[in-house]
Amino acid sequence: MSLFVASLNSGSNGNSYYVGNDKEAVLIDAGLSCREIEKRMRRLNLSLEKVKAVFISHEHDDHIRGVEVLSSRYQLPVYITPTTLKHGKLSLENTLTRAFKGHETISIGDLHVRCFPKTHDAADPHSFVVHSNTVRIGVITDIGFACENVIRHFAACHAAFLEANYDEEMLQKGSYPWPLKNRIRGGQGHISNRQALELFVQYRPAFMSHLFLSHLSKDNNRPELAQALFEAKSENTRIIVASRYEETEVYMISGNPQSESWGGWDAPVAVVHQAAGLASIAAAAGNGGSQPVAAGVMKQRKALSQRGKKQRPPSNVIQISLF
Ligand SMILES: [Zn+2]
Ligand SMILES: [Zn+2]
Repeated sequence: MSLFVASLNSGSNGNSYYVGNDKEAVLIDAGLSCREIEKRMRRLNLSLEKVKAVFISHEHDDHIRGVEVLSSRYQLPVYITPTTLKHGKLSLENTLTRAFKGHETISIGDLHVRCFPKTHDAADPHSFVVHSNTVRIGVITDIGFACENVIRHFAACHAAFLEANYDEEMLQKGSYPWPLKNRIRGGQGHISNRQALELFVQYRPAFMSHLFLSHLSKDNNRPELAQALFEAKSENTRIIVASRYEETEVYMISGNPQSESWGGWDAPVAVVHQAAGLASIAAAAGNGGSQPVAAGVMKQRKALSQRGKKQRPPSNVIQISLF
């Protein structure tokens, strides 16, 4: 079954991403006002009645701004880690607040949302892969660098919203104060066009049909620059910039026969134990975990994919975002 995806907005001024099938949908983050989410979904002909849950990636304002009103108005459950809830100082209705943990997969009807920890200067940041049995959509923004979790999940996606926050030269030469520049590029902030492209070129699966460049900086990036950079390497993947000013169109993402395997980490239930599993496989492969992450992960994925070939997927300060 195909999945339908759209960015309602993407950037430090607000993030919200829609992923749904023909019966139900989830929103990843609600960083626009409820009114703006309603307006943009209406323009896209998407129904909020179909939305069954909101997942919150971290407590920065551009990811949570509209969640309280949205949840209360539509009685929507909000999946959020207890630490993010605390740091976001959110007042959600108790009955609508649901906790999740890293590496957990939560099912919302026929949609499954896999939550995984990432690196970012927030209290407990996570990214997500929303999947049906045959289609996987990654929502991966606000990452300090492409850690093992990011690489592994990105490499399994048919489509992904991937951060491409800044052009390194524009940031370097721009007017931001040095501490802010260093915060953005210091491994806990955001990834640059170059870093995102590296991830894409090295780990893009052959079946990835759409890449949505996301969370672009207003001051340190240009949509046409990022688009051209990725299009030069895109092969059969369509490149779309998710705007910080308006919603994208709704895109239909379909699976295909090449892509049934998750590249080695198959059944959602197994993922709960994936960290330990991967560590032991890395050790068995003889690298003891000491190789650079990328090489190690590739070995692990290979080993896992051979093993699993037959399986099928069944404070008082408001947190501000970087630019
Ligand atoms: Zn953000
Ligand atoms: Zn953030």
